[in-house]
Amino acid sequence: MSSFLDRLGVPRRINAAGTLTRLGGSLMAPEVLEAMREAASSSVDMAELQSAASRRIAALTGAEAGLVTSGASAGLTLAAAACLAGWDAARMAALPDSRGMPARVLMLRTHRNSYDHALRLAGAQIVDIGHNDRGAGAGVRGVEPWEIESAIDAQTAAFVFVAGASGGASLAAVAEVVHRHGLPLIVDAAAQLPPASNLRRFVAEGADLVVFSGGKAIGGPQASGLLIGRRALVGSALLQMMDMDVHPATWAPAALVDTGRLRGTPLHGIGRGFKVGKEEIAGLLCALERFAARDEAAQADAWTKRLHAIADGLRGQPLLRAVLREAGPGGRAVPGLELQVGADGRPDPAAAAALCRRLQAQARPVHLAEDRLDEAVLAINPLALSPQDDAALVAGLVAALDATLGR
Ligand SMILES: *Cc1c(COP(=O)(O)O)cnc(C)c1O
Repeated sequence: MSSFLDRLGVPRRINAAGTLTRLGGSLMAPEVLEAMREAASSSVDMAELQSAASRRIAALTGAEAGLVTSGASAGLTLAAAACLAGWDAARMAALPDSRGMPARVLMLRTHRNSYDHALRLAGAQIVDIGHNDRGAGAGVRGVEPWEIESAIDAQTAAFVFVAGASGGASLAAVAEVVHRHGLPLIVDAAAQLPPASNLRRFVAEGADLVVFSGGKAIGGPQASGLLIGRRALVGSALLQMMDMDVHPATWAPAALVDTGRLRGTPLHGIGRGFKVGKEEIAGLLCALERFAARDEAAQADAWTKRLHAIADGLRGQPLLRAVLREAGPGGRAVPGLELQVGADGRPDPAAAAALCRRLQAQARPVHLAEDRLDEAVLAINPLALSPQDDAALVAGLVAALDATLGR
């Protein structure tokens, strides 16, 4: 009896690299699959489902409202679209053509990254401001309020802040200036979980909209995400994502939609292609409730225990030194096992790259975190590593090291 994936001829990979999208993101708990299964075999009104989702998300995040998107990247596009169009049906219909409306979105230079494309997709024009004195090693200064202030003009529609980016300015400092000018502040917090306290943190620090990935640490469906924040902005985003093949005489809009401020029934918006299914909405809500209720210290202990056992299995390897990086207050939220590659403790990036290639080509492919490959440091991240795969991970690593050494 072969499994569906076996019949497709697609190997199951051992993922010690974290909840990487290209490796399929998170692994879902049976309860989450059960919520998706129930939704999959039921017909529901999608507006009612998103409205219920908003109430649950609001309760768990402290935001006024929330919406399930098809990912954090889609959430960024919808957030920009909400800031550009508001409740204006004509602007919604025009996007991504943003001519004639304020469409400049400010970002700190040190926050620019390849998800900027998601903002531009809505029609936003990114203006990067400030400098990179610290990053360039040229100076001691971060970006000051006057630098943000002087960049704001009548064409400015929003400010986008990437949580976790280094350099620049604090979120609170940016929020103070941006709000003084009546502009919305969007925060990309896609991968800023755990800790679960971050579900509330960015809204509490002044964000008007925040995006999170559903398919990373929350443990929801890979193609899901959260957009949370101010009710009117989340409502506009929802409207620009919903299917709008409705009869204006019978349309029952979601509770978040402020029909009093709409001059008519909008057409399909910029987000229509970012459809979320009822399965994703149910699955992400179930995963979010489990994530918010989890005992994080116990979870970190369980991960640490497994990483200790994996490190024991790798002891005595001449090419590898394993160092446990513990989770702790003020430090990292997820423990990791750092693998320093090189003979006699000399970092060997070429050997690290060769090891990764070999691991990925094995019959049971293994993926390690490669963020620091250039320093000859690989890492085992337990977030998407199934406990059933721990032994196979060690065996795969030992086999690849043996092959590298010609043993
Ligand atoms: C992963 C990530 C995204 C995209 O998230 P998806 O849910 O995969 O769309 C956006 N921004 C940052 C900073 C991320 O890490």
